[in-house]
Amino acid sequence: MTMGLIPPPLRNDCFAMPQGAHWTPVDTALAHLRANLQPVTGVECVSVAEGKGRILAGPAIALRAHPPEPNSAVDGYALKGPISDGAHEMPLVAGRSAAGVPFAGSVPAGQAIRILTGAVIPRGTDTVILQEDVTTNGDAIAFHGPLKAGANMRKAGEDLHKGQQIFAARHQLTIGDIATLSSVGVGMMNIRKRLRVGVLSTGDELVNPGNIARPGQIYDANRPMLCAALRSWGYAVTDLGIAPDNREAIKRKLDAGAQDCDVILTSGGASAGEEDHMSALLENTGSLALWRIAMKPGRPLALGLWNTKPVFGLPGNPVAACICALIFAKPALSLMAGGAWQDPVSYQLPAGFTKSKKDGRREYLRARVTEDGTVETFASEGSGRVSGLSWATGLVELPDAAVTVAKGDLVRYLPFSNLGL
Ligand code: AMP
Ligand code: MG
Repeated sequence: MTMGLIPPPLRNDCFAMPQGAHWTPVDTALAHLRANLQPVTGVECVSVAEGKGRILAGPAIALRAHPPEPNSAVDGYALKGPISDGAHEMPLVAGRSAAGVPFAGSVPAGQAIRILTGAVIPRGTDTVILQEDVTTNGDAIAFHGPLKAGANMRKAGEDLHKGQQIFAARHQLTIGDIATLSSVGVGMMNIRKRLRVGVLSTGDELVNPGNIARPGQIYDANRPMLCAALRSWGYAVTDLGIAPDNREAIKRKLDAGAQDCDVILTSGGASAGEEDHMSALLENTGSLALWRIAMKPGRPLALGLWNTKPVFGLPGNPVAACICALIFAKPALSLMAGGAWQDPVSYQLPAGFTKSKKDGRREYLRARVTEDGTVETFASEGSGRVSGLSWATGLVELPDAAVTVAKGDLVRYLPFSNLGL
């Protein structure tokens, strides 16, 4: 791993898909992204404690075993096991072993020593009896056997070995990982710099929520939604604002975005109509790939490079923009951020709805799980209904092939929480 070097830009044709069927299946589009995208961010050294959600630039190796030495799992008395059946009495060695303050001496055979949870097992012992299982006068203990050798203690390295690879490069750190790395002494890690993502909305009709909307204007729903999604995915977001349907204005925004960001997400103007300026501008760079994906909801996705920075031109319709961002932009951004390819985990749940669809197009329905464990879908499939995104807790994914779903049939449910939202 070369420290501090920014990887070379993506190739101009990285989004170009072989011409073939007019409508590209979702899986083909995903496979193309997976095969052609690489990390575009540099590397920095980051404290593990600050690393939640960050992506490892190299493997994480245990600097020490965990536990480093054998220690007691309970408060009690350390002795040499095994102990046979029946009643026993044992003299106590003076002193004790406590967490952080190990017993310096050695315990003679047939004797025991006071030990506390987390304390190193003293030399001469290998077993701990619970304090609740003994009576003592301070000089000796009495208890009943049997007791297996090694009872109530943790062996050195039983959790992790020194030198063991704990995580591979590309792993995204969870809070559990922060505990694991800390426990083996890893304080700093080489981490991918945060992917910087610019977000631009395009359209003459758009106005920022909170402002007065004149007749003919609508509020920009996509940019706040996309910025929020990107932040939950751990990226650094640059809000590029709204550009009107004017090529010069969009160009200026893209120039600014390409300067400050690693990737740009836009919404609106991505089709091939006369007001679809995003696709026209990318066409002029020679890098445009207009992906017509066989899915609903969806309109073309306009992909390309602007001043070497990848641009994801999402559809304007907020439901389509959201679902295209979740299905395509999310895994693509993960690769560009230096992370692993992520196929979101979905579950097979019984349908609480009926539906039939034709062959040749994958469908994503706004969905949620009811208390009886069935999954229901939003009443209106019309993709203009933004409120369905609020109603839903996830998506039902219906396969490309024709299906008729009857109540109780298993369908694939993809919770938003599994999409990092
Ligand atoms: P377009 O892809 O530009 O043709 O837009 C498709 C539809 O989505 C139109 O009805 C637009 O008004 C609407 N739309 C585009 N961008 C946004 C946005 N940022 N927020 C809400 N609706 C939008
Ligand atoms: Mg538009």
